[in-house]
Amino acid sequence: MYEHNPNSLLRHIPPVDEVLQNPVIYTLAQSVPRPLVLQAIRDTITLLRADLSAGRLQAPLEHQARDYLLALIVEKTTKLAHSRNRPNLRKVINATGVVLHTNLGRAVLGESARQAINDAASGYSNLEMDLATGKRGSRYAPVEQLLIQLTGAEAALVVNNNAAAVLLALGTMASGREVIVSRGQLVEIGGSFRIPDVMTQSGCRLVEVGTTNKTYPADYQRAITPETALLLHVHTSNYRIMGFTRETTIAELVDLGLSGQLPVMSDLGSGSLKDLSVYGLPAEPTVQQVVKDGADVVTFSGDKLLGGPQAGIIVGKKSYIDRMKKNPLTRAVRIDKFTIAALEATLREYIEPQMAWQRIPTLAMLSADNNLLKQRAEAVTAELNTAAGEYALCKVVQTNSAVGGGALPTADLPSWGVEVAPRDMTVFDLAGRLREQEPAVIGRLQDEKLLLDLRTILPGEETTLVAVLTRVLKGGALP
Ligand SMILES: *Cc1c(COP(=O)(O)O)cnc(C)c1O
Repeated sequence: MYEHNPNSLLRHIPPVDEVLQNPVIYTLAQSVPRPLVLQAIRDTITLLRADLSAGRLQAPLEHQARDYLLALIVEKTTKLAHSRNRPNLRKVINATGVVLHTNLGRAVLGESARQAINDAASGYSNLEMDLATGKRGSRYAPVEQLLIQLTGAEAALVVNNNAAAVLLALGTMASGREVIVSRGQLVEIGGSFRIPDVMTQSGCRLVEVGTTNKTYPADYQRAITPETALLLHVHTSNYRIMGFTRETTIAELVDLGLSGQLPVMSDLGSGSLKDLSVYGLPAEPTVQQVVKDGADVVTFSGDKLLGGPQAGIIVGKKSYIDRMKKNPLTRAVRIDKFTIAALEATLREYIEPQMAWQRIPTLAMLSADNNLLKQRAEAVTAELNTAAGEYALCKVVQTNSAVGGGALPTADLPSWGVEVAPRDMTVFDLAGRLREQEPAVIGRLQDEKLLLDLRTILPGEETTLVAVLTRVLKGGALP
């Protein structure tokens, strides 16, 4: 290598046609679509030109330049084409211990729900046909019946997500009028879903009452005017106000509402059909309880604690649900056949009360036996030590998982994990390389170590996890 005018090298860059004839590129084009390969060659050459012109590339001896540049282009093109040919949505092993991780797709579907989606995708279905009569049917009917049966509500409707459910319910019941909410419940859920903004969007006027930490029934009482359309209760999903606090309960709001003949709506957010306190989680009112307490309309997500597909579920009094069904917005936030298929299958798992804990992955993870988690952590640690013991220090540790999805933010879920301290790279490098793998592995960084929580690692993923970690620790970062 020696210094000389880099621009003279530009003329040694091979033309695209010549690169295409290279045997490596020829083989590449057998597995990667040709247009992608072509584009990758062009982009690589453009970058190379820029690098040479700017002197960013060490120039080889002039008489070797052509071979050198061709080899470089072939190598970079291969990498680029492969990376562009991978789907962007890729499989991830969730070792974070956050059960409902919004960035990782929230609830994992159970076997029956996956099968139902597959069936719905593989052929035609009676999505909107009543097979008994051959006439037009409702796509909502099967899930509505199940929701009525499971929650005790009079009627139900399902939309695209809970944000849409809140928007639709508010817009239908209170557009142009006032909605009373406690100051302690004006929450932001994330992704710019803020209760005051949703109110504005649905055409309601927000009337705030009480203070951040205390709101009494009398605060609502004083705010009721002839303009009031609704009393709204919002579950403060992702945070807790602790200490000197007072929240007005749904039952109290229902009492207030009845004297003024005002409906009460509860945005439950996570909305569980199961009492999670039996597994040591904080007691939360179930959907059934809120319905029983007299809420006229209850909204919750399909892919949070319910453990189903992304959806917004609305249950409540028939008169209100009927009005929502006629709202043109309902069509705009309609769920597709895959959601219906997966939701119906998920809801069916709740019919037999004990089955749900095993067959719905979210519930199975939340109720996982602590000893079993420990055994799994020990097994993974032993395998890692055997396969990659020279490259990292691995040990079994006690840790805490989280529910996630904005649910139960203060809940501590004692769990077991594997702590990995790499010897030949930083823990940030390790985490970065694990994210590039197929499947990607996402853990938690803690005290300069990588922590892998067994709670959210699905049964059967351990072998892959160990293989991916071993490969990365040994330095073969490519999948
Ligand atoms: C999560 C949540 C929402 C939004 O639900 P999505 O299904 O994510 O649209 C709305 N309200 C509350 C209280 C929530 O916790």
